Amino acid sequence: MENHSLHMKFGTKAIHAGIEPDPSTGAIMTPIFQTSTYVQKSPGDHQGYEYSRTQNPTRKALENNLAALENGNHGLCFSSGMAAIDAILKLLKPGDEVISTNDLYGGTYRIFTKIFSNYGIRFHFVNMDNMEQVKSHINENTRLIWAETPTNPMMNIIDIKALAAIAKKHRILFGVDNTFATPFLQNPLDDGADLVMHSVTKYLAGHSDVIMGAIVVKDSQLAEKLAFIQNSCGGVPGPQDCFLVLRGIKTLHLRMERHSQNGKTIAAYLKNHPKIENVYWPGFEDHPNHATAKKQMRDYGGMVSFTLKNNRIADAIKVLESFKVFVLAESLGGVESLCGHPATMTHASIPKEEREKVGLSDSLIRLSVGIEDAEDLKNDIAQALDTI
Ligand SMILES: *Cc1c(COP(=O)(O)O)cnc(C)c1O
Repeated sequence: MENHSLHMKFGTKAIHAGIEPDPSTGAIMTPIFQTSTYVQKSPGDHQGYEYSRTQNPTRKALENNLAALENGNHGLCFSSGMAAIDAILKLLKPGDEVISTNDLYGGTYRIFTKIFSNYGIRFHFVNMDNMEQVKSHINENTRLIWAETPTNPMMNIIDIKALAAIAKKHRILFGVDNTFATPFLQNPLDDGADLVMHSVTKYLAGHSDVIMGAIVVKDSQLAEKLAFIQNSCGGVPGPQDCFLVLRGIKTLHLRMERHSQNGKTIAAYLKNHPKIENVYWPGFEDHPNHATAKKQMRDYGGMVSFTLKNNRIADAIKVLESFKVFVLAESLGGVESLCGHPATMTHASIPKEEREKVGLSDSLIRLSVGIEDAEDLKNDIAQALDTI
């Protein structure tokens, strides 16, 4: 990574960090190095690239750019967000224990409980609003603390600095899934996390056209271990996808500003609507973790969840079917507004009792507020709610 990128402000880094004009042609945009292998003059005599599972110049530019955006030293890209989490879990061994947020992306819950628990790793899901709960699960086998903030889909905020202090004291690795916030809104490494992970698929790529994951770390030894896993297990993205993400990131700061602005408008609108029971958005002053959100985030983003009065699943489905601008789909973070029903979609793999413990009720609707005109989004919500 270029050292001068450390001194740039976010919008400049988004466009320039880690990116050099192509030395052979001067092409300003990073070329798509669609190659599996690289010519060697004599065995071992190459220009730093041997085989594209190990390194690829398009991927390298993106990895360096992401490292700069998260104020880390090393970026690693994976074929999906889940492949990135998979690589992090492969740092562990049988007998190790993990303490995780209980209000978690469904796929993360699934890889923890259905895949890695079979390899002798134990997972504890705790309410991280309460640091005493975290401390009470620490023992000599605890190797990883895993947090998502804002949480999905309940929009709880976890205090990253407070968790980092506990992790440091007990020498436990601490990772944050920063998918919802993006490096524009918060930088967990600055607050003491060891690893930051992204589903690049979402806001970073930003255009609903790529599946990708990433990890950024500061520590070189940790980066080396992860690069070893990345190369050994092979869950790497192709250069076309890396190009699309490099292109998407060039507008990350502009998109996140508009997502946050529209998110605020929609959250306020929902809060005053007579058919709505609860609105979950960390920017509200009466949100239970608002003080923490204000301290660790630069703005509140475009994710908003809400429940309907009477909590009927049929009403939620009717509303979702009636949207005309909001599109019913899995995923989030693209320029277009999406809506989803966590209980039957993203979080269907979490048992109902577990779901309801964290407030994820049957009528909960999650919005990924896009960057369209906010007036059109409000009108769309109004007409959809009129159908119930
Ligand atoms: C989507 C998502 C993931 C998984 O990422 P993929 O790119 O879909 O594999 C992990 N964490 C969060 C918070 C997500 O939203």
